[in-house]
Amino acid sequence: MGISVTESEAPPRVAMLGGTFDPVHLGHLRSAVELAEVLELDRVHMIPAHRPPLRGEPGVASHERLSLLRLGIGDTPRLVADDREIRRDGPSYSADTLASLRADYGDQARLVMALGHDAFLKLADWHQPQRLFQLAHLVVLERPGYRQPLPPALDELIAGREVDDPAALFAAPAGGVLRIALESRMAISATAVRRRLSCGDSVRYLLPERVEHRITALGLYRHER
Ligand code: ATP
Repeated sequence: MGISVTESEAPPRVAMLGGTFDPVHLGHLRSAVELAEVLELDRVHMIPAHRPPLRGEPGVASHERLSLLRLGIGDTPRLVADDREIRRDGPSYSADTLASLRADYGDQARLVMALGHDAFLKLADWHQPQRLFQLAHLVVLERPGYRQPLPPALDELIAGREVDDPAALFAAPAGGVLRIALESRMAISATAVRRRLSCGDSVRYLLPERVEHRITALGLYRHER
C-alpha cells in the first residue's frame, strides 16, 4: 500500500539514514536535517539496525537505541525514527530495508540511501550491493576525518553511476550516486561519545540534551566496551 506524502503530483522524495545509532548524536541529526533541505526531501527515515551485519553486537539494546533516537528527533519536521529493522528478525540488511520502503512509497518514489563517507568506503562488502542500486540512489555525506580514496571494488561498483547534482539524481527513481558536503560537517562520532561517557567526560553539545539526560538516568555506556 502506498503512503501519501504530498498533495502534489511529483513523486515523493524519501531518504533512509540507517546506522547503529549507539547512541544518536548531533552529527546524525544535523546531517539528516541538512540532507532534507538540500535534496528537498519529504521525509528522512532514521532506522536503527537491530543486528548490524558488519560489526559487533551493540552494547545497548535496539529498543533503547530507538528510544534515544526518538528523543533526539523530538518534533523535528521531516525526520522519522523508524523501527522496521527492529521489528524484523535476523541481520539488518539495508537492501531488505530499502525494499520495504520501496513497497511503502511505490515505484516512482525517489528513494535515497544516505550514508557517511566512512560507511561508503565499506559498501562493496555489504550484502547484495548491486541490489541497493536497483532500489535507491546513494547519497554519500562527506565526514571530517574520512578522506581515503575508494577501494577498487567500490570504484567498480559505482562506475557510471555518479551525477553532479540533485536534479540529475532525481531524474530517475533509483540507481545514481551523489557525493555531497553538507554545510555543517561535524566531527562527532558515536565511538567518541561512548568513550567520553565511559570515562565520565562531558558529552554536552555532542548530542541532544534530552538524549544525554536519558543516558545518564539509565546509566548507559558507563563501562568501557
Ligand atoms: P560509530 O562511531 O559507533 O561507528 P557513528 O558515529 O559512525 O558510529 P553510525 O550509527 O554508525 O554512527 O552512523 C550511521 C550513519 O551516519 C553512517 O552512514 C555514518 O557514516 C553516518 N554518520 C555518523 N556520524 C556522522 C557525521 N558526524 N557526519 C556525517 N555522517 C555521519
